[in-house]
Amino acid sequence: MAKVTVKDLDVKGKHVIVRVDFNVPHKNGVITDDNRVRAALPTINYLTENGAKVILLSHLGKVKTEEDKAKNDMSIVADCLAGLQSAPVTFVNATRGPELEEAVKNQEEGSIVLMQNTRYEDLDGKKESGNDEELGKYWASLADYFVEDAFGSVHRAHASTVGIPTHIPSAVGFLVEKEVNVLGGALNDPKRPFVAILGGAKVSDKIGVIENLLKIADKVLIGGGMSYTFSVAKGGKIGTSLLEEDKVDLAKEFLDKGEGKLFLPVDTVVANDFDNPTDCKVVPAGEIPDGYMGLDIGPETVKLFQKELEGAKTVFWNGPMGVFEKPEFAKGTEAICETLAHLEDATTIIGGGDSASAAKNLGYAEKFSHISTGGGASLEFMEGKELPGVAIIPEK
Ligand code: AMP
Repeated sequence: MAKVTVKDLDVKGKHVIVRVDFNVPHKNGVITDDNRVRAALPTINYLTENGAKVILLSHLGKVKTEEDKAKNDMSIVADCLAGLQSAPVTFVNATRGPELEEAVKNQEEGSIVLMQNTRYEDLDGKKESGNDEELGKYWASLADYFVEDAFGSVHRAHASTVGIPTHIPSAVGFLVEKEVNVLGGALNDPKRPFVAILGGAKVSDKIGVIENLLKIADKVLIGGGMSYTFSVAKGGKIGTSLLEEDKVDLAKEFLDKGEGKLFLPVDTVVANDFDNPTDCKVVPAGEIPDGYMGLDIGPETVKLFQKELEGAKTVFWNGPMGVFEKPEFAKGTEAICETLAHLEDATTIIGGGDSASAAKNLGYAEKFSHISTGGGASLEFMEGKELPGVAIIPEK
């Protein structure tokens, strides 16, 4: 990528708005995982160390009611941020107006202003999410430069992602630069063989990505709940497993197009009940007895997928192989995760979401080349779609 990056800006003494992803998980006002704040630190530290006056903007959750507003108060991030780096942090409990403007005006070089949740602006007519022209222009008026570092939000054309850079010179931060380089490398110039592994609940969520990766990857391995729609497309019996009937014809189309490169499970772990599985067994794919549902890939499928992954030089993985939240149906996801973690000389990429959680929970996070910080954004990227928050940043 040849986008302008934060390093190309002369930031000393300048106000720089950074769109970060501080959409952290939290409970009762306490952050339960501060990874997103940590992921933004390289760009924030670079700017404060180089004398910028940094203004941080992020959304936190959805804000549709006054209750959401109280629950998603960005002030919980201020202490966390202050504890993770040394620049002074001023939290402003407003998204516009004199308090915000004063705080920005009084900023010293190397200091940080953290603004209240951008989505507070959604309560009065979806101004943030609807990319209100006046709002983007107003926020832009507070700064000299804009830096996009919220990869998890770049697939959304909001006032804070697309509106601001319409009005002032802009650049990508280190996090977005890395995401786009790694994902773009896999998409545009992958070292081959390139194997994609797609799982998760539904075919409908992954149509675009399956379509694009069938064109680009050398092999596409499909597991998880969506594999049962493919099984039906092949004439199989799937009991009470997840099925999207309206996607069976599409699955047939993918099977035709992907002949020789699309690999489906050959066996599956089934249970008599989702909530209270008292009877679990492994059966061949497409032979699930009535009253049973498929909840994980079986051991023969793990072997097949391991064989197809041998020698892979690039791997993109999105979506668990089964209901990995329940230990009895997590084995397939765990085995794939372990296999990828031990692949030698390969670029291994996890496309965020549940597969990223699985890798982290299993202690393999460090073994992957890249774990994307944006589930939705990385999927749209791999679909070949343009990401509005990246597209708006100029080329060098
Ligand atoms: P996604 O967000 O599309 O990646 O889907 C992730 C969800 O798919 C997880 O919550 C899994 O529990 C669920 N999932 C994976 N395999 C199955 C399955 N065989 N049946 C039901 N849900 C599944």
